[in-house]
Amino acid sequence: MKNNKKFIVFGKPSFNKEELKAVKQVLDSGWVGMGPRCEEFEKLFAEYVGAKYAVSVSSCTAALHLALLAANVGPGDEVITTTLTFVATTNAIEYAGAKPVLVDIDPHTLNIDPKLIGAAITKKTKAIIPVHYGGLPCEMDKIFAIAKKHGLAVVEDAAHAIASRWKGKMIGGLKNSLACFSFYPNKNMTSVEGGMVTTDNKKIAENIKITRLHGMDNEAWKRYRGGKKIIRSEMVMLGFKYNLTDLQAAIGICQLKKLERFQKTREKYAKIYDKCLSEYCDLQKRPEHSSRHAFHLYVILLKLENMTATRDEILQQIRNHGIGATIHYLPVHMHRYYQKKFGFKNGDFPIAECAYERMITLPLTPSMSLKDAKKIAETVKRILIANTKK
Ligand SMILES: *Cc1c(COP(=O)(O)O)cnc(C)c1O
Repeated sequence: MKNNKKFIVFGKPSFNKEELKAVKQVLDSGWVGMGPRCEEFEKLFAEYVGAKYAVSVSSCTAALHLALLAANVGPGDEVITTTLTFVATTNAIEYAGAKPVLVDIDPHTLNIDPKLIGAAITKKTKAIIPVHYGGLPCEMDKIFAIAKKHGLAVVEDAAHAIASRWKGKMIGGLKNSLACFSFYPNKNMTSVEGGMVTTDNKKIAENIKITRLHGMDNEAWKRYRGGKKIIRSEMVMLGFKYNLTDLQAAIGICQLKKLERFQKTREKYAKIYDKCLSEYCDLQKRPEHSSRHAFHLYVILLKLENMTATRDEILQQIRNHGIGATIHYLPVHMHRYYQKKFGFKNGDFPIAECAYERMITLPLTPSMSLKDAKKIAETVKRILIANTKK
């Protein structure tokens, strides 16, 4: 990969000696599966977001699946979400046996448009999954009001929203909601693979602790580590194998401790991009002062009507300069599988399609140097200018 040496990849994680030391400690301890490190990670994460409970799981996809089940979503039900998301969101709805009902986005926030949710509600609707796209919090007051009026559960897909804040509260700490986080390698913090559900509802937290591990009412590590005392455990429902491990949690704890520092760097780089690029493209709306964008994704929206090249041509030019720009996402309703299975068609959600045709995500991670960030901003600016009609 010699000629790829200087390629700035999208979403490269930041590790140092601290993760290495934490992993070694777990390996040396003789207990690598789910255990005390998972519990510590859950406690620290709940404190960080201001939730009463946090339950660790193997991924955000698993978190969404179990959160929907805990919200009593099942066969015959419908769950509303945005079409501009990663397919894991809608896949989880199907795992729960329910049908995904898609809604278009607001062209400025790129989040689900709350004004369009009402028309998607039927007698079968059980829950709404707002996705905080890129790390910009959804308009949660409007979503909670709709949910309350129609008796719907709110399950947040907060995969991009680790460190996001909405009106003074961290995402994950909002009342009457289950928030699902991802610690996939390219997310704002990682445990290599992993996820978390946060809630202020004790019953729901206890339910997910059972469903994440086979449906047994006692966690294995407590059984084996309980000392001389015999602890019985019994299967009480059909569960899954969705637990995190202590090896992953040890990495997650290190990353959580660095998260606010990571966030400062993301904000600094985002400012550099903003300053350089805002004249030449549109940007996702920025939140008001009491809220915070996590800048998981830094998305530019090309002003195609003024340009001499297509989005894909511009993306290719950026990549040719060693910048791992990419696209988030092909809207769910444009995937072949979802079209075949649920009858969605191209054209169903024009605002999301229009955004998709214009969007490019630039690499922005704390693993990049200030020099990288400046290079990306300047290079993209040059490319945009070169492809603008004179
Ligand atoms: C990454 C991501 C997920 C899935 O997270 P995993 O931890 O990989 O399961 C779900 N939703 C969105 C919006 C994501 O970006």
